[in-house]
Amino acid sequence: MPKLNEDYEDLRKTVEAFARDVVAPVIGDLYQREEFPYDIVRQMGAMGLFGLPIPEEYGGMGGDYFALCLTLEELARVDSSVSITVEAAVSLGAMPIYRFGTAEQRAEWLPRLTSGEMLGAFGLTEPGGGTDVPGGMRTTAVLDGNEWVINGTKAFITNSGTDITGVVGVAAITGERADGKKEISTILVPAGTPGFTASKKYSKVGWNCSDTRELSFDNCRVPAENLLGERGRGYAQFLQTLDEGRIAIAALSVGLAQGCVDESLRYVRERQAFGHPIGHYQAIQFKIADMEVRTHTARLAYYHAAEKMLAGEPFKKEAAIAKLVAGDAAMDNARDATQIFGGYGFMNEYPVGRFYRDAKILEIGEGTSEVQRMLIARELGLSGL
Ligand SMILES: Cc1cc2nc3c(=O)[nH]c(=O)nc-3n(C[C@H](O)[C@H](O)[C@H](O)COP(=O)(O)OP(=O)(O)OC[C@H]3O[C@@H](n4cnc5c(N)ncnc54)[C@H](O)[C@@H]3O)c2cc1C
Repeated sequence: MPKLNEDYEDLRKTVEAFARDVVAPVIGDLYQREEFPYDIVRQMGAMGLFGLPIPEEYGGMGGDYFALCLTLEELARVDSSVSITVEAAVSLGAMPIYRFGTAEQRAEWLPRLTSGEMLGAFGLTEPGGGTDVPGGMRTTAVLDGNEWVINGTKAFITNSGTDITGVVGVAAITGERADGKKEISTILVPAGTPGFTASKKYSKVGWNCSDTRELSFDNCRVPAENLLGERGRGYAQFLQTLDEGRIAIAALSVGLAQGCVDESLRYVRERQAFGHPIGHYQAIQFKIADMEVRTHTARLAYYHAAEKMLAGEPFKKEAAIAKLVAGDAAMDNARDATQIFGGYGFMNEYPVGRFYRDAKILEIGEGTSEVQRMLIARELGLSGL
C-alpha cells in the first residue's frame, strides 16, 4: 500500500478521532430514530470536510479528491449515513458546480457548500430508470423567455430535502440533438423554488440517517443563467461526476469493510464459548483473515484509481474495479461480522447490524455492480462484439 504523506495521515487521524469520539457515541440512537445528524454535519462543516477538494478561494481546503476519499473511509468505519452525507454533498453537489459552473455560479454557491452551511444534491435518477440514462429520463426543461420551466420527477435523491439543502443539480431533457438523441443539460434549482417539492423521506433498509427523497418539478421556473456549464453537456457532466464518485463510494465501502474487521477483532477476544474466547477457533480466525484480505485489496484498488485520477490519466476502468471490489468486500464483511456476533449481530445495539443494513446499497448506488462489469468489459474492448 502506498505510504500516506504527512498531510494525508494527519487528516486521516483527525477524522478517525472525530468518528470515534463524536459520531460513534450518538449515531446508534439517531439511526434507530431515522434522524438526520444535523449537529454532526455542523461540526464536519467547521472542520472543513465539505470543502476538502475545492480551492481556498471558494472557502474550500485546497486539498484533493484523495483527501476526500480518506475522510469518507474513516467516517464509514463508524457510520455510513454520515459518510454518504459528505460524499453526496461534495462529490455530487459541490464538485459539478466547481468543475462545470460559471464564475458567478461558483461564487454564489461554493462558499456555502464548502462550509457545510448548505448541502448540495444531484438529481439524475428517475422513477423510470437509473441505469438506463438517458433512455429512462422523462424530466424536461424548456426555455421560456429568460427562464427554464422544469417538469418531471427524480427518485432516490440524497441530501435533497434537509433543512439545510441549498441547491439541486437537475439533469433534464432540453431538446433533441442533430443525431435525434435526447439533448441533456444540468440546471441548478435552489431549494424553495416554487414548483419544486421534496417528498417526505423514503423508509429505507439502511443509511437511515441519510436524507433520501423523491423530487417533483411542476412548472418550476428558474433563471436561464442557472444552466450548469454549456447546454447539451449534461450527459458528459454526469459521466465524469459518476466516474469520480465511484472512487469515493469505493472508499466509503472500504470504511464499512474495515469497521467490520475492527468490531469483530474486539468481540472475538471477549465472547467466550466452550472455555475459550471465540477468536481461539480457527473457523473464526479464517473468517477474520478473509475480511482483512478483502478490505486490504479493496483499499489498494481505490488508492490506485485515485492515484490515476490525480495524475490526470484515464481512470474509468480502475474506478469501476474499485467500486465493484469494495462493494463486494463491504457486503461480504458485513455478512461475516454479523455471523461472528451471533444473535447480538442481529441486535441494533451493536454496530455490525447497522453495517449489515448499510452494506447492500453499495452494490446499487452510483452505478450497480452490473454497471461496473459493463464498464470494465467496455474498457477491455468487449462492447459491440
Ligand atoms: C439510498 C439511495 C441514494 C441514492 N442517491 C442518489 C442521488 O443522490 N442522485 C441520483 O441521481 N441517484 C441516486 N440514487 C439512485 C441510484 O444511483 C440508482 O438506484 C442506481 O443507479 C440503479 O438505478 P435503478 O434503481 O433505476 O435500477 P435499474 O436501472 O432499474 O436496475 C435494476 C436492475 O437491473 C440491472 N440492469 C439494468 N440495466 C442492465 C443491463 N443493461 N445489463 C444488466 N443488468 C442491468 C441493474 O444492475 C439492477 O440490478 C440513490 C439510490 C439509493 C437507493
